[in-house]
Amino acid sequence: MNENEPYSAELAVAVEAVQAACRVTEQVRERLSGRDTVTKDDLSPVTVADYAVQAVMNMILGQYFPDDPITAEEDTDELGEDAAASLRARITEAVQQEMSDKLEKDVMEAIGRGSHPGGSEGRFWTLDPIDGTKGYLRGDQYAIALALIENGKPMLGVMGCPRLTLHLEGGDVGPGVVLSGTDGGPARLHMHSGELRNIHVSGREDPKDMVFCESVESGHSNHRQSDAITSRLGVQSKPARIDSQAKYAVVAAGTADVYLRLPTRADYREKIWDHAAGYRILLSAGGTVSDVDGKPLDFSRGRRLEDNRGVVAANAVFHERIVAAVKDVLRGD
Ligand code: AMP
Ligand code: MG
Repeated sequence: MNENEPYSAELAVAVEAVQAACRVTEQVRERLSGRDTVTKDDLSPVTVADYAVQAVMNMILGQYFPDDPITAEEDTDELGEDAAASLRARITEAVQQEMSDKLEKDVMEAIGRGSHPGGSEGRFWTLDPIDGTKGYLRGDQYAIALALIENGKPMLGVMGCPRLTLHLEGGDVGPGVVLSGTDGGPARLHMHSGELRNIHVSGREDPKDMVFCESVESGHSNHRQSDAITSRLGVQSKPARIDSQAKYAVVAAGTADVYLRLPTRADYREKIWDHAAGYRILLSAGGTVSDVDGKPLDFSRGRRLEDNRGVVAANAVFHERIVAAVKDVLRGD
């Protein structure tokens, strides 16, 4: 990385934090192997890994940028009680794999540093410690997603996808990729060797060859409507179903062309940490992102995208045509 690039100091720290987080999530998962089922109670590995990652990343950010507030998914509401003593101990143990000198009180304090309300002023980080927890539990895709928002706009995004392989022209990269994007800079892959590789959206132009992706979970994106949209556009393949913001990564790297997120409930508002990092990376890779009405995503409205419904993310060539098809189908034409 060139020190004169905008956000080079923030980028270096964000990549370090995401790489540390990827080690934590995979270590917690490994200790699971051998167990057949995972119960989703307070001691579930999802909970332990979510909290441990939030602690590790908030500590790294706090060390380099002590004045920057953080808007993160998790809070400490469930951790203070006597009943949570064993959960606190397991979270601390997971953090200590990465930072051996940290005590339980440091870990709890760090998790609690994610409560910033967001908004339109100043700069803050937004973090999803494990995006796609259902994918994480299934052994499928998940992402660690971190973005820096300034005056309501994502200026830097870094995402770690420990289980993702990207099929690029020069060969496969992964499993395990870290991607970044900055305002005014390229979208890049950060290779294990330290090498950086620029990535770009696909140049496909024929709609029938378009590759769509969407959530695995039908509760997070309407699959029936996406079928209607792809049929209307004459797309030949079925949408690939991928958990987490890894969907933004595959569009940014050109292995897919479109990420559709179609509302399943009128009152659901997307969370900023579910989109900010992927959004920034995809824009830097030459993509276009809007909501299902074609409106730009507005990250300045607090912890949620209050003024948007769903997401349509695509390479710039296809975006407008897809939004038109989405509008038609959602109107019930
Ligand atoms: P995905 O892996 O793309 O299915 O998205 C996972 C994210 O979906 C989680 O981080 C949740 O914040 C978010 N989510 C939860 N409920 C909904 C919903 N009803 N509609 C859209 N997203 C949701
Ligand atoms: Mg999430």
